[in-house]
Amino acid sequence: MTTLRIVLGDQLTRGLSSLRGCAAGDTVLMMEVAEEAAYVKHHKQKLVLVLSAMRHFAEELRREGLAVDYVRFDDPANTGSFTSEVRRAIARHAPTRIVATEPGEWRVMEMMKGWGAEILDDGRFFASPASFAAWAGGRRQLRMEWFYRDMRRASGLLMEGEEPAGGQWNFDHDNRKALPGDVVPPPRRRFAPDAITREVMAMVEARFSDHFGDLEPFGWAVTREDALEALDHFITACLPRFGDYQDAMKQGSGFLWHSVISPYLNIGLLTAREVCARAEEAWRSGHAPLNAAEGFIRQVLGWREYVRGLYWLKMPAYAETNALGARRKLPEFYWTGETEMNCLAQVIGETRRHAYAHHIQRLMVTGNFALLAGLDPREVEEWYLLVYADAFEWVELPNTHGMALFADGGVMASKPYAASGAYIDRMSDYCASCRFRPDVKLGAKACPFNYLYWDFLIRNETKLKANPRMAMPYRTLTKMDGARKAEVTRQAEAFLNAL
Ligand code: FAD
Ligand code: SF4
Repeated sequence: MTTLRIVLGDQLTRGLSSLRGCAAGDTVLMMEVAEEAAYVKHHKQKLVLVLSAMRHFAEELRREGLAVDYVRFDDPANTGSFTSEVRRAIARHAPTRIVATEPGEWRVMEMMKGWGAEILDDGRFFASPASFAAWAGGRRQLRMEWFYRDMRRASGLLMEGEEPAGGQWNFDHDNRKALPGDVVPPPRRRFAPDAITREVMAMVEARFSDHFGDLEPFGWAVTREDALEALDHFITACLPRFGDYQDAMKQGSGFLWHSVISPYLNIGLLTAREVCARAEEAWRSGHAPLNAAEGFIRQVLGWREYVRGLYWLKMPAYAETNALGARRKLPEFYWTGETEMNCLAQVIGETRRHAYAHHIQRLMVTGNFALLAGLDPREVEEWYLLVYADAFEWVELPNTHGMALFADGGVMASKPYAASGAYIDRMSDYCASCRFRPDVKLGAKACPFNYLYWDFLIRNETKLKANPRMAMPYRTLTKMDGARKAEVTRQAEAFLNAL
């Protein structure tokens, strides 16, 4: 009996369910296919990261003595799609059994159902889609905080008996500090490309030169060994201050104290269990404060698991909703970074250079602008899916559609994450070198986020006013006189029409 064991590009984990029990005579199938590389114009660094990590993983399996059938892009017989490559592999190996691990995306799951494979659970997550569905069943609201507490209890992470460590589930209120000018973020661990990575870089430059972003400098880890080194560096040098400055933004310093491990988690070089265990250990040994360890573990055990559960619970209908009826086209500056709004220029510029922006940059700068300007969710989602090294639909879609754009009407977030320029000014140093002023509300010097914020509330009044969490801004809006409201609308329309 020979088994064909399928490993996809975001499943590069030795303990993957489809690799379990691999025996002599079995073949591991890995495929580089054009369909996946080009269904959106992924950032060039993301393509290099995934393809180079796949090639390194295949080498590691071979060194262990496993038979790996690796279909490269430049194989003249490569048909360019998963389904036809699986068919060709079946003809080559005549397996008696095919096993695959459930994929990350709904789109790929639909394909996989036609491969004749046993589809195994992806045990790399704390919660399976079925256990999330059981948690969600019968609940009126699917709030992350309640899910997270159950995950803490189930995993035992940061627990002292039945109680949360430190007597609190959530230390978020300690994690919103602005960054003082004299506090300097640590340098980040980057990895020089080896021969395999350089070969992939040349191929990406030749075949995907029209894709988004800068190819160099490429500094991502492409092996588990290097990803573990990046994790070590985060735990040692960054975790102690991760909580304090989690929401801060600083010009020219995109990584701050963030872990920058999401691409490694999402393609399987690191596992969620090990990164949470390392953060807990850092707190228990006295290396990191509890607000930092809890803040980090909440992102991985809470948000990451929650968005995956929501994705599988709600797809495919989830992607179709457009609760605020947003229809405006994505402005050109999302691709070029060329805009006079300094916060957007900085975040998009860093995104082009590094295929990375941290959460608050994604949510409160590019996401906030897209929400306030009423950009079409489909165009915004495509942008987020292709510009980041960590972007895979199961995690990108709920974050963009639900959290940033409120396009799901409040399934994920209890209110829209809408903010004026004052928020960006408080949490960053971007405004100091901007041509606009965050404290000016109307006129040529006014920060566009200011009148766009009020215009957003005016435009969506019938949809949002009844939301109890929007009561305060709507009370303020009620006090605004008619002439001022009309001027807000006029300036917002003039600005948006000129985009
Ligand atoms: P840290 O700030 O160090 O956080 C630690 C880890 O927690 C991350 O590595 C990540 O695995 C996890 N995490 C944190 N926040 C979230 C979240 N909201 N959802 C899921 N996991 C989270 N994350 C992706 O992995 N892929 C995406 O495509 C993606 N798209 C996003 C789109 C938008 C509009 C927004 C607002 C957020 C998106 N996120 C996405 C979530 C988050 O911004 C990134 O996970 C995080 O910025 C990655 O950087 P980091 O590794 O330094 O994270
Ligand atoms: Fe952004 Fe407004 Fe600040 Fe300029 S003034 S950086 S547009 S928030």
